[in-house]
Amino acid sequence: MSRQSTSSKGKLSFLALLVISITISASLNLLMYMRISLYISNNSIELTNLLSFFIFITALLSTIVFVLAGKLLDRFASERSNVNELKNFKNFVEDLHKASNEVEMYGILYNFVKQIPDVACTSLFYRIDRSPDDVVWQKLTDEKVQKIPLCNLIASNCPLVRLGRECYVQSIAKDVNCAYQLPEYKNGSYICLGITDGPTVYGVVQMYSKKDNFFDTGIISKVKSYIEIAKPVIQSKRTLHILDKQATTDKLTKLYNRTFIDPYLEKEIEAAHISGGELSVIMVDIDHFKKVNDTYGHPAGDHVLVFFSRLLMKCIRKSDLVSRYGGEEFIVVLPSTDLETAETIAERIRQTVASMPVPPLEDLQIHSITCSLGVATYPVHSDNKESLVKAADIALYKAKASGRNRVIIYSRDLEKDVLNHKNR
Ligand code: GH3
Ligand code: MG
Ligand code: MG
Repeated sequence: MSRQSTSSKGKLSFLALLVISITISASLNLLMYMRISLYISNNSIELTNLLSFFIFITALLSTIVFVLAGKLLDRFASERSNVNELKNFKNFVEDLHKASNEVEMYGILYNFVKQIPDVACTSLFYRIDRSPDDVVWQKLTDEKVQKIPLCNLIASNCPLVRLGRECYVQSIAKDVNCAYQLPEYKNGSYICLGITDGPTVYGVVQMYSKKDNFFDTGIISKVKSYIEIAKPVIQSKRTLHILDKQATTDKLTKLYNRTFIDPYLEKEIEAAHISGGELSVIMVDIDHFKKVNDTYGHPAGDHVLVFFSRLLMKCIRKSDLVSRYGGEEFIVVLPSTDLETAETIAERIRQTVASMPVPPLEDLQIHSITCSLGVATYPVHSDNKESLVKAADIALYKAKASGRNRVIIYSRDLEKDVLNHKNR
């Protein structure tokens, strides 16, 4: 429902009510007039006096009918608006629960609050915690109506984000405004309300109206109701997301762990099957890693693992994924990648690792490392996740057995080789 249509609807109903009131009372009077004039013509009474009397009665009746009908209509409209409001809240809650992530929820909240009539611009700023030291703020807005934003929210400045101080400016021309409101805005009123979780502000709903004193308690409590309803659902989604991330991330290297990679790989293979594409995996294992631990100690081993993870990340594309599969063993998943490309990437990893010196840990100089790699491709070598990983693992085993610091591609013959080797 647009803001303009609401006000033009109001004007139309007022006119309709006026016409109806006058028509009803005029018709009633006409009926009475016809009956009485019949009586008068039979009893010879002055007709002009009677006419003035009926004009007066018509006016009086019109006013009474108008007032009464107006009151009835008002009551009906307010009941209807209450019912609509309840329906809106119900739809809002349903939509929130259907949302699959926090960002989608902010979008839903924004879409509902921006429907409040006569607001010239509504913006919703929300915070995304990509990692503990990587926080960004995003914005949903219809500010193209106003062309320039009311403020360029800088989280480190905003009094609401920093201190939880909400902002209510009833008149930009007369009140004390927010220090970060842009000076291009000279008239109107605005509010900034927080979406909070304890002391932390995760979002800001900002609304601007061209009218002074627009944001009365009714409108503010309506916006706050939407925020209050959304808050616990957003909070629980965020908690789930954090728990999910913790459960699927390796604490040391910050790479995905096996809990994440197994179902991920399964889905990627399914996608490759549907699209008729290929998918490759590379199993990577640090050579003689035990020696690093034995020579320099366990913390140095951890340091090498982190360094090695960073190198792996540098060697792959955005669409690829690296996961710590266990101890000093990693898996690289390369969607839409044929065997030849996978071999090139594996060789790039091998050379990068062999050529990069390990940065010292404080004063401790650690010798360079090498790694061995096994490559397998779906559907060339396998038709399911388990056998694909197993194929890459067999190739890795062969790379170790052949002297380490090398890339081996899986082939059927390797299975016999590996078996013979193990049985020796
Ligand atoms: P190979 O070339 O055959 O792979 O020999 P390797 O020494 O690398 O392999 P091995 O399996 O003998 O030893 C792996 C070592 O990795 C043993 C284990 O203590 C160590 N390790 C596993 N996880 C961690 C970890 O999180 N931190 C550290 N520092 N060491 C770890
Ligand atoms: Mg190893
Ligand atoms: Mg190993």
